[in-house]
Amino acid sequence: MKQILWFRRDLRVEDSALLENAKGEVLPIFIFDEEILKSLPADDKRVTFIYQSVIDLKLKLLKMNLDLAIFYGKPKEIFSKLKKFGFDEVLCSVDFDSYAKKRDDEIDKIIPLKRFIDSFILDPSKHLKNDGTPYKVFTPFYKSLNLLTQSNHIEQRAISDNILLYPFAYIEVPTLESMGFKTATLPEILTKGVKKVLEEIPKKLSNYKEDRDFFYKDATSNLSVFLRFGIISPIMVFNYVRNMKDSEFFIRELFWREFYNYILFHFPNSEFDNFSGIDINWNENEDDFIRWCEGNTGVPIIDAAMRHLNETGFMHNRLRMIVASFLTKNLFIDWKKGEKYFALKLLDYEASSNIGSWQWGASTGADAAPYFRVFNPYTQSKKFDEKGIFIKSVIKELKDLDSRLFHIENGVHSDLFLSYPKAMVDISLSRKRAIEKFKEARNETL
Ligand SMILES: Cc1cc2nc3c(=O)[nH]c(=O)nc-3n(C[C@H](O)[C@H](O)[C@H](O)COP(=O)(O)OP(=O)(O)OC[C@H]3O[C@@H](n4cnc5c(N)ncnc54)[C@H](O)[C@@H]3O)c2cc1C
Repeated sequence: MKQILWFRRDLRVEDSALLENAKGEVLPIFIFDEEILKSLPADDKRVTFIYQSVIDLKLKLLKMNLDLAIFYGKPKEIFSKLKKFGFDEVLCSVDFDSYAKKRDDEIDKIIPLKRFIDSFILDPSKHLKNDGTPYKVFTPFYKSLNLLTQSNHIEQRAISDNILLYPFAYIEVPTLESMGFKTATLPEILTKGVKKVLEEIPKKLSNYKEDRDFFYKDATSNLSVFLRFGIISPIMVFNYVRNMKDSEFFIRELFWREFYNYILFHFPNSEFDNFSGIDINWNENEDDFIRWCEGNTGVPIIDAAMRHLNETGFMHNRLRMIVASFLTKNLFIDWKKGEKYFALKLLDYEASSNIGSWQWGASTGADAAPYFRVFNPYTQSKKFDEKGIFIKSVIKELKDLDSRLFHIENGVHSDLFLSYPKAMVDISLSRKRAIEKFKEARNETL
């Protein structure tokens, strides 16, 4: 047996489906996919992070008397070349977004592909309601997994002892520069590494449920990027926190990730269409969209969140909900545009979670927010950043203002000399307009 172990979004050696199922002669590989990379800017932080993680994986594999061949190119062409070496099969972890599915189906025709659920806990194909249809609502979905979520431990995958490294030119490693990228400065969360991030979790858990929405605090786990690239597996995270005090609510959040992956698997069209099937006449004004992207809406909390995202690649969950509501309800712009923008910017960009959450925010999704639930950004900033700590840390021109002004529509303009835009929409009017339009759209489909 000769296998290719194709590492992609599972850059680890622990709890690895690839290493568990490997047998015979193996060629572990990673491909920097030209098709994906060509749309990214030269200083994309994710590419630097993946590059460092791939080198780290190579070193870990070397310690196990294995290695990692690293390619840059089009997967189809690379596998066509590898086929000549007589490999029997390719092992990899499965991805359910449309690009990945199409790519994998093409590779499967070159060398048979064995796909494993390696980035999620649950196999979505194996979990259905009693009537044989998939769950669409989170709470019953989560309750139905009671046995799993309440268990003390989920078995992790062991490493096969029946493997031998296939001789290959492992020494040739493309540099970031040769692929058209430069080394970006990474945020501290990523440079400190997953071990340190994990160490901080126990002290966060006791207040997680209460503090997780206060975006000026560092109260959440910061694990999403590590989960996204498989530096750690969700099973490892589950096992790590399971027997800690106050872990229940955190585990529930981990299963939102599972839920959105489950929804994308069962409803692949939700990547492109409103899950609810309603037809909406969105606002197509490009200038409105650009003002949102750049953080120039004149609403302090929205602008701080967007500018912070543009600068760092991070956005707190509560802020993601607020800016998504503002874009899709107050500006009435299609969630797909917001989803694409997040895909470009978020370090933890995960197709399933991003699509599911955007559809949730736009009230078009599975188990979505009701269409009449429109976040008032001013109420939200008052509730979760009363002293304006986060807003002031991002919008320097507002740093000397009384924070109470941030929570009143156009409040900051009581300072006449301020160079900051006026609010681009009236919150109450735009809310009413969105609700009317949703009502119209829902009637159209009745
Ligand atoms: C509009 C929008 C877009 C989003 N896009 C993404 C995305 O592209 N990638 C992504 O990983 N998350 C996404 N999320 C979910 C959530 O915002 C992030 O997972 C979370 O902010 C990451 O921070 P953390 O690791 O500190 O989370 P914690 O609060 O510590 O949660 C632990 C883990 O649980 C999972 N999780 C928590 N909340 C959610 C949620 N609501 N949905 C799905 N998984 C969740 C994540 O894997 C997270 O790392 C999105 C949410 C919204 C509202």
